[in-house]
Amino acid sequence: MIAESSPSSKKRAIVWFRKDLRLADHPALDAALQGGMEIIPVFIWDEQEGGAWSPGAASRWWLHHSLASLGNTIEQKRGNLILAKGQAAVELPRIAQAHQADIILYGRCYDPAGIATQEAVEEACDSSGISTESFNSSLLQEPWETKNGTGKPFQVFTPYWRKSRPIIYREPASYDPRKLSFVPNLSSPSTLEELGLLPEHPWHQKLGNHWEVSEAAAHQQIERTVEEVTQSYATRRNHPSVDGTSRLSPYLAWGQVSPRQICQAVLQAENEGSHRGENKFLVEIGWREFSYHLLYHFPNIPDQPLRPKYANFPWLDDPDNLKRWQFGKTGYPMVDAGMRQLYETGWMHNRVRMVVASFLVKHLLLPWQEGARWFWDTLVDADLASNTQGWQWAAGCGADAAPYFRIFNPITQGDKFDARGEYARRWIPELEKLPKKFVFSPWTAPSSVLAESGVDLDGNYPGPCVDHPEARARALAALATLKQI
Ligand SMILES: Cc1cc2nc3c(=O)[nH]c(=O)nc-3n(C[C@H](O)[C@H](O)[C@H](O)COP(=O)(O)OP(=O)(O)OC[C@H]3O[C@@H](n4cnc5c(N)ncnc54)[C@H](O)[C@@H]3O)c2cc1C
Repeated sequence: MIAESSPSSKKRAIVWFRKDLRLADHPALDAALQGGMEIIPVFIWDEQEGGAWSPGAASRWWLHHSLASLGNTIEQKRGNLILAKGQAAVELPRIAQAHQADIILYGRCYDPAGIATQEAVEEACDSSGISTESFNSSLLQEPWETKNGTGKPFQVFTPYWRKSRPIIYREPASYDPRKLSFVPNLSSPSTLEELGLLPEHPWHQKLGNHWEVSEAAAHQQIERTVEEVTQSYATRRNHPSVDGTSRLSPYLAWGQVSPRQICQAVLQAENEGSHRGENKFLVEIGWREFSYHLLYHFPNIPDQPLRPKYANFPWLDDPDNLKRWQFGKTGYPMVDAGMRQLYETGWMHNRVRMVVASFLVKHLLLPWQEGARWFWDTLVDADLASNTQGWQWAAGCGADAAPYFRIFNPITQGDKFDARGEYARRWIPELEKLPKKFVFSPWTAPSSVLAESGVDLDGNYPGPCVDHPEARARALAALATLKQI
């Protein structure tokens, strides 16, 4: 790369964007602004980073559009986002030298691969004499900040949150992003297309029908959340047929918003009006923090159960049932609706995530890691900390987990949380005309009702791939083998 001269006498800071693809409440940008520095914005795509947990297809789709949007916003401020492919520890010192940067500023990551990358960057910069400074740009608190009474990490959410809760009052940085000054006309080693983020499979194209990927869209989503969601969150959040949750998760995953911005917006609405229910919503942001606390302290948990004895669980190897589950063809409509929503939109309602996860690990006796991998590839909000925590919770092998013996019944879960069958029918149009009474167990409908409703079991909609009572008994028997260990 050819070195470009620095015509201005201002100091230059590389701001290395990672999981914080935004301009507001970005501590590294704030530091550059406070230091009167011109900014060289950089993103580096290292497809090897993360190994088996390198971003999945849906996540890469989101990243592609996030970078396009961030690049446009920076261009409006007469700068341009430098894109490079390769290892950050190699690329960053090279870019720093080429553009005569005085310092590299960045937000910390807390997953094992992100930590390894930043350690390598620190080492490389140290030996090249380049200064660095890192910040917390994606969490309310550092994962190591809160410890239990004996100085150990928490493994149960309630006491963790009791101790951590004041972090919701931590305020976003108060600078005005319009004042950020970017170095103009920087050459970029790669174009966005050259990063090759968009999956080859055209599946991702439909995601664009469901999501607008930009920092501005994230803020609209926060506005919608405080106006329409938080007031009734406690009562509506469990019902997948209504828009009762924030849908902020993908914006948090790549950092179009920070959790501080979300908390501030919710607390402000609480102070200004008579909102109720917000606190329940903020507890969920607490679960995100707790997930990072666990991942940081127990970095093996994306692959290994937190409770070691579950490593001996007698999981089955059943590729046919795994496929049925992945593509929403188990014959259990609440499960199939969720899996189809995921495949179509890159997102699934939390209640349904719990139902489908339970079904995979209990009814099908398939390893939770298989489910976590499928979610990882198909979720636009894929997040190693939350996904791991969610799957280990469902499999009963994680911190604060649902006990394995508590087996969700996919029929009654549908009756309870989708009482009119709207969600199931929306995602499984084959069942549109089936009377509500049979929507969550079509095989119990008399053949005349099935015929009238246009449902052909094992024709246009599958019969159940396992029998619920038998599957339940089999799961409990599998658990019993573990107890003997
Ligand atoms: C098996 C399983 C896998 C999951 N995988 C992921 C994942 O990869 N990425 C992800 O962001 N969430 C994951 N979750 C948690 C949760 O389902 C989603 O965060 C939530 O559905 C996102 O929708 P929302 O933004 O409308 O949430 P809201 O209900 O509006 O909650 C607001 C925010 O709180 C956080 N949050 C909510 N619930 C949880 C939770 N249980 N654990 C951690 N954080 C939470 C999210 O950041 C969310 O955006 C998983 C849950 C399960 C059961």
